[in-house]
Amino acid sequence: MTNIKNLKMKITNVANSAIKKSNDLVEVTKINLKINSLESEIEELYKKIGMDVFQKYMNGIDELQLKYEQECDLIKTKYDEIMKLKQKAALLKGFKFCQKCNSEIEAEYVYCPKCGSMQNE
Ligand SMILES: [Zn+2]
Repeated sequence: MTNIKNLKMKITNVANSAIKKSNDLVEVTKINLKINSLESEIEELYKKIGMDVFQKYMNGIDELQLKYEQECDLIKTKYDEIMKLKQKAALLKGFKFCQKCNSEIEAEYVYCPKCGSMQNE
């Protein structure tokens, strides 16, 4: 009787962990979609900067030290967001990124197997 109860509990646990795994997978897919859209936004900003520089060149403005702080700030913000999303996705898959070389390593590792640097929590 106890064995059957234990078996039932085991099956329930396996089922629950399967549900969690598939929820994590959905979350990882959502994160990847968000990363793709951020990367397209960055591409658009690069294009805008390039077009502006070329326009100035065509207009004979030799002052090509143009200020693109706003665009560059936006791009940096988006790259930061992508890094955070990648870390979130990695954690859902049981990984994290090495703080030094940025390799994907197992979440519980204290030292990076690639570069050997210690990971601070
Ligand atoms: Zn490393």
